[in-house]
Amino acid sequence: GATINAASIDGLSQHFPLCMRNLHMTLRKNSHLKHFGRLQYTLFLKGIGLNLEDCLIFWRQAFKLITDDTFNKEYRYNVRHAYGDVGGDAIRRGRGYSPFSCQKILTEHPPGNGETHGCPYRHFSIDNLTTLLQTTGVNDRDVLRGVKEDVEKKRYHIACNRVFEFAYKDDIKRVKEDKSWGAAELDTIVHPNSYFKRAYMLST
Ligand code: SF4
Repeated sequence: GATINAASIDGLSQHFPLCMRNLHMTLRKNSHLKHFGRLQYTLFLKGIGLNLEDCLIFWRQAFKLITDDTFNKEYRYNVRHAYGDVGGDAIRRGRGYSPFSCQKILTEHPPGNGETHGCPYRHFSIDNLTTLLQTTGVNDRDVLRGVKEDVEKKRYHIACNRVFEFAYKDDIKRVKEDKSWGAAELDTIVHPNSYFKRAYMLST
């Protein structure tokens, strides 16, 4: 099985969907993320199986420019809250918030200036989206053209599935051929955590 801890997130991030990949790369570049980016990413990390203790280590190490004191005062509570470790009874009983679905990310809290959360297919200009895709190794002209068409038709999650199918095309071919995966395992992805789970299973 996978070892999912604070130290393995960099390596695993190659299997993250673009929304989370963008958050991760921005976090590494700036050593910081704003509130909604932290929330979206924390819940995703929780969803892939990162436990609270490791999630706190992850954020503490990532925020290189602040002191322990500042981290404890300004950031620790929100991470614990997302995991249901603190907060109202109902939230605690339900063990915190659920990781956000694509639907939620696409429709709620669009990112403002300097914010990194949201869905790049929905919230980036086509030029910035293309650059981001190329940064993550998607250089195929047909795929990039297909993404552009999907986005123009506002079929954002279809664009995301298109990129997934391109990135894992050899693995998908293999599991189809040996019939280890059927239609149910290969239906349209509508949740960032499903994207990761499927990508990770295909590639290991
Ligand atoms: Fe993330 Fe969903 Fe957008 Fe893909 S479609 S980048 S998984 S929010």
